[in-house]
Amino acid sequence: MLDSFRFDRLFIDGEWTVPLDGGVRGSIDPATGKVWGDVAYGGIKDIDRAVAAARAAFEGPWRRMPGWERAAILRRFADLYATQIDALARIETQDNGRAVRESRGDIGLHPQYWHWFASLADKLSGRTIPMDDSVHAFTSRLPVGVVGTITPWNVPLMAATWKLGPALAAGCTVVLKPAEQTPASSLALARLFQEAGFPPGVVNVVPGDGPAAGAHLVAHPGVDKIAFTGEGATAKTILKTGADTLKRFSFELGGKAPHIIFADADIEQALNAATGSAWALCGQSCALGSRILVERPVYDRVVAAFRERAARVRVGMPLDPATHMGPQAHHQQLDKTLSYIDIGRREGADLVAGGSRIDSPDLAGGYFVEPTVFAGVRPDMRIAQEEIFGPVAAIIPFDGEEEAVSIANGTPYGLAAGLWTSDTGRAHRVANRIEAGIVWVNTYRYIRWSTPYGGFKTSGWGRENGIEALDSYLETRTTIISTTGRFADPFAS
Ligand code: NAD
Repeated sequence: MLDSFRFDRLFIDGEWTVPLDGGVRGSIDPATGKVWGDVAYGGIKDIDRAVAAARAAFEGPWRRMPGWERAAILRRFADLYATQIDALARIETQDNGRAVRESRGDIGLHPQYWHWFASLADKLSGRTIPMDDSVHAFTSRLPVGVVGTITPWNVPLMAATWKLGPALAAGCTVVLKPAEQTPASSLALARLFQEAGFPPGVVNVVPGDGPAAGAHLVAHPGVDKIAFTGEGATAKTILKTGADTLKRFSFELGGKAPHIIFADADIEQALNAATGSAWALCGQSCALGSRILVERPVYDRVVAAFRERAARVRVGMPLDPATHMGPQAHHQQLDKTLSYIDIGRREGADLVAGGSRIDSPDLAGGYFVEPTVFAGVRPDMRIAQEEIFGPVAAIIPFDGEEEAVSIANGTPYGLAAGLWTSDTGRAHRVANRIEAGIVWVNTYRYIRWSTPYGGFKTSGWGRENGIEALDSYLETRTTIISTTGRFADPFAS
């Protein structure tokens, strides 16, 4: 179904439509630096149309539809999605350069997310609140309304799934604005929404530039909530832009996850997780263990293994199933990564692997960077404090639990953390002190539909996945009904 799909129109009110004040632009393949296809970009008038369609669908069929009917449409969509995994993975990889073996693995899990959220759509019940006999009090859970979802370029389909799944299950309608660098897979998603039979206007997809289309969606008085994944700096701008409307916000932001390896751990397993996580998505994911904290007795062994494994990473064309790591997703990210490698060098960290752009003839023009390892990193160095979002591992030595916890918590971020130990007591003690929304013990990046995910500190507001994800798409109404019908005259005496 998606093999001959064209990306040069927007999806608004159930129809494919040309942009009113945007246009059609070439989307860049980061593996070649060349345009791979034409994609529609919307502007302010297109966002206005999409919000109007979402509002009409919300007031019309969607919020009034029984939960089990919404669930049935969502399940149909999930089944359809499952038939299109390969095509969706190819499209996403073409647009953002993530190795297709990874895209496929990630996208292959999405149908289960959609099924899980579908299963919640008819269970949005409130509760009865025990009071005295004179009143009957209860709560109801109601959809927030029209949701603007703004997603990043590293994982466009995952971010859309995590937001649209709970939003639609809750009875909200949606305008999805994907990142300008990687809009294609979100338009393909719209084709599946259309095919699955969602009523027109329930889901609208409008690619567009952040400061124009994105900002207009944020400021729009017809939008009740913004669900955003991206950088903290953008989240601050969004808060200011949306302040006048006092709409709801949820934020999934950056991270600088510590991956803590104690000397008593199964070091081979820890290395499998830590090296895999350092270079997955070419380093472009919020939860990756970009700081590797290693207890001194095993420090040299871990550094040597990182160096050896960096040489084994097959960097190559992302659509080749043998490739481990593709290019950076766009040119600005390439520049950012290279500049942080330079910063690491100047800060005095020990570059033990990688450190350069790859410009071999077979990868010429693409945004490829070598898997890079800095050892001897101090916790206060910029490469240990700031999110690089490239394939750059920073290895930091430590002595004992106290120091591990202090380094782990010593950044403004608090999204994810991993720790490796064979001591169960230590696992509980240390995990309990980590300031992060998710802590993995003797595993890493295990993320599923039912496990809440989100950040402490500057890593975000709210949670995605799990029952908690529904909360941010629901309002609670309390109803109190008199059982006697009597209300005293306040001026009787
Ligand atoms: P970004 O903030 O640059 O862009 C994200 C989205 O915001 C894009 O759609 C963009 O068009 C839009 N945008 C930009 N300016 C805007 C504005 N003024 N108003 C409204 N919208 C605007 O982020 P990015 O570079 O695309 O993504 C990388 C970031 O996302 C990293 O920091 C990463 O850690 C974070 N991230 C977090 C999670 C998570 O779950 N916590 C997941 C993936 C990515």
